[in-house]
Amino acid sequence: MWVAETDVPRPTQKLTGRIVTDIAIVGGGFTGVSTAWHLRQRSPGLGIVLLEACTLGSGASGRNGGQVLNWINGVTPQTPEATRRIHGATRAGIDLAEELATRYAPPGTFRRQGCLEVYTHPRRAEAAHQHAESLSAAGIPAEFLPASALGVAGAYGAILDPLAGRLNGYALLGALRPPLVASGVSVYEHTPVRRVHDGVEIVLETPEGEVRARALVLATNAYTPALGFFRRGILPLHSHVLATAPLPEADWSRMGWGHWDGFTDDLDRIAYACRTPGDRLLFGGGGNPAYAYRFGGAPVGGAREGDRATRFMQAAMTRYFPTLAQTPVAHRWSGTLAITLDRVCSMGVGGANRNLYHALGYSGHGIALALLAGRVIADLYEGNHEAWRDLPFYQKRLLPLPPEPLRWLGYQAYTRLTGRSPRRRG
Ligand SMILES: Cc1cc2nc3c(=O)[nH]c(=O)nc-3n(C[C@H](O)[C@H](O)[C@H](O)COP(=O)(O)OP(=O)(O)OC[C@H]3O[C@@H](n4cnc5c(N)ncnc54)[C@H](O)[C@@H]3O)c2cc1C
Repeated sequence: MWVAETDVPRPTQKLTGRIVTDIAIVGGGFTGVSTAWHLRQRSPGLGIVLLEACTLGSGASGRNGGQVLNWINGVTPQTPEATRRIHGATRAGIDLAEELATRYAPPGTFRRQGCLEVYTHPRRAEAAHQHAESLSAAGIPAEFLPASALGVAGAYGAILDPLAGRLNGYALLGALRPPLVASGVSVYEHTPVRRVHDGVEIVLETPEGEVRARALVLATNAYTPALGFFRRGILPLHSHVLATAPLPEADWSRMGWGHWDGFTDDLDRIAYACRTPGDRLLFGGGGNPAYAYRFGGAPVGGAREGDRATRFMQAAMTRYFPTLAQTPVAHRWSGTLAITLDRVCSMGVGGANRNLYHALGYSGHGIALALLAGRVIADLYEGNHEAWRDLPFYQKRLLPLPPEPLRWLGYQAYTRLTGRSPRRRG
């Protein structure tokens, strides 16, 4: 659907032959592209090669729910300072989305009119009201909206984050390609990395070529275990999404959708929605049928799985927006998230030669963080760790998930017995 709303020329070139460079980045989503952009801003002469298996934005970055949100999944800070610090970091990621979209992307790619977190039980809405007040007291903008201010059916209240927004990631990444190439970053699409040989000089094998680099950035998020890294720490989870055709303004008014960009609900089986730049309603989640983990991290299932997920999400969408009961689904798709056991992501550098950089495991809450990751990795590459040491993702060791078949069995047991979605908030 994001592709249908994008009008960006997509010149691509694949790698043929051997090249030598300073730093190679594998993955052309927000993490990889932001890393290339930050490295280039700082070091005009650095050799940077970006390798993408398909095209820029073909992973989660071009397939997501579009809400650019504050906060790091899985983290519960103990002090107002820690709360401000985390909020400040993700706010910097949202600012970056705004800056890049304003400079490089077509108008409408990014919008920042706030996102809602909707509460579906009176007790939780009351607790949310207090939470919004404590955020405001800590200097973090947050507004509690009572049920009377919301058109969403079944909502008892919501917190509006006025600094959150909406992004067409596919459009942004496509728009960043020309300035990256013009600045001397070598971008190769349709170039899957088949094998990584670690060493002082790292060697990357691709179908028709080879890259030798002094440092490597793994910007492959959910696909990283398939490359042989972070196998124990990352669970690749498929998430289904749908979108309506463009809705006229009258439909948005009947739905009770205000000026905001998107919403999530407060349930373990989290539902999320966004008003796209093309005025479609995008809707995802809402329960376990909207997600799938396949044995061994295999690719998403076929049409039957998609049909079942779509029917389920359409019913969930109609519960929140009953006026859409007869509205057909115009697009449906899926994307792959990287879930970690405690939902906290990791950014850092490691390997025997301290030349393997990574940023991954955003657990479904990664647009702002993956964009921020480019700044973090560029800092670490320059040896500046101080700016990030106190954040929970810095050099975070991912907790080990069980190996197969326990992993698959554990996923089934967890989702069926607890009724929780694996994408729950921490
Ligand atoms: C359905 C869905 C809804 C979401 N909704 C939201 C949301 O509303 N808000 C939010 O904040 N987050 C959301 N997320 C999460 C967010 O989209 C991700 O956290 C973020 O995009 C991760 O960016 P990334 O660049 O790290 O990974 P990706 O965008 O997945 O990029 C990785 C890239 O690596 C490439 N690649 C993989 N293997 C190789 C290889 N061997 N060689 C070369 N290239 C390779 C892939 O093709 C891909 O392009 C959602 C995710 C999904 C799937």
